[in-house]
Amino acid sequence: MLTCKQVSNALSESDYEKLSPWKKFFLKLHVKLCIFCGKYNRQVMESQDMCRCYKQHEDSLQTVRPKLGESKKEELRRLLAKEAEGKH
Ligand SMILES: [Zn+2]
Repeated sequence: MLTCKQVSNALSESDYEKLSPWKKFFLKLHVKLCIFCGKYNRQVMESQDMCRCYKQHEDSLQTVRPKLGESKKEELRRLLAKEAEGKH
């Protein structure tokens, strides 16, 4: 089992999702059962979850945006091409 200090250290070092599956498992188990640090570290984990969610959202927005711009351009090009055809 992990000690409270190990759990706190692991959580303060980085996002707990980045830890190895086993360490993550013991970390979650400790936080679930521990009466000393459980409440506090659960909040830390929740805030990390939220942070991760926000980052993913931001990343997906950034990857979607240029794509949208590109398809809009393509649409415009097609529309212009159609119009040019119509004039002939
Ligand atoms: Zn503890």
